[in-house]
Amino acid sequence: MRKAIISDIHANLEALETALEWIKKEGIEQIICLGDIVGYGANPNECVDLIREYCTVVVKGNHDSATTDGEDLYNFNPYAKKAVLWTKEQLSKRNYEYLYYLPLKVEIGDYTFVHSTPKKPERWNYIITEYDATLSFSNFEGQACLVGHSHLPGCYGTDESFILAQEFTLTKGVKYIINVGSVGQPRDGDPRLCFGVLDEEKREFAWIRLEYDKEKSGQRIIESGLPAYLSDRLKVGR
Ligand code: ZN
Repeated sequence: MRKAIISDIHANLEALETALEWIKKEGIEQIICLGDIVGYGANPNECVDLIREYCTVVVKGNHDSATTDGEDLYNFNPYAKKAVLWTKEQLSKRNYEYLYYLPLKVEIGDYTFVHSTPKKPERWNYIITEYDATLSFSNFEGQACLVGHSHLPGCYGTDESFILAQEFTLTKGVKYIINVGSVGQPRDGDPRLCFGVLDEEKREFAWIRLEYDKEKSGQRIIESGLPAYLSDRLKVGR
């Protein structure tokens, strides 16, 4: 079975719709979301509605948590903080409760799905360097842990590999931490939306990059009164 793994939507409706259309056209059976459905973008309710409708597994991200758990925003930059407070006012009661009750981590067969790290997801630490990855390998069962959070697509393996290619085959006996990238706010210098596709039978993983109407998403951010910086960064993917 093929699974599409999407993450860090950040209320970017145009990006999410484009990703979902592609996934549907490809006939991919299952969609998993690794959190941060809201925050930064202008369409939190529409995005939560789509995630509820199409995703079979969804875990909570730090922005979903900050918006609903009432946690301290001290580690949020001023733009993110403003977006969290704005989002809090926009969310319907139903969507607010949906985000509040999301699990932090889900394990299915050989795969672990989590927004940040498998050990203590609620600490919202990042896996960015090889050292970060090394610390996390012993904290999940199965072959691969799929994460989001940094918005930087890539994969670390216990064979000391770092993969940034379009596609790779999971080698037996090697464990992997795969960052699927971000649908709604790419930060690796490529403004195209990003997510992953996992083929369980073939044990293959691929990153998908697609153009979407980022002008429209940016315009919606401006019109909502959110910081213009959040619109600007969509154009450069930083
Ligand atoms: Zn995020």
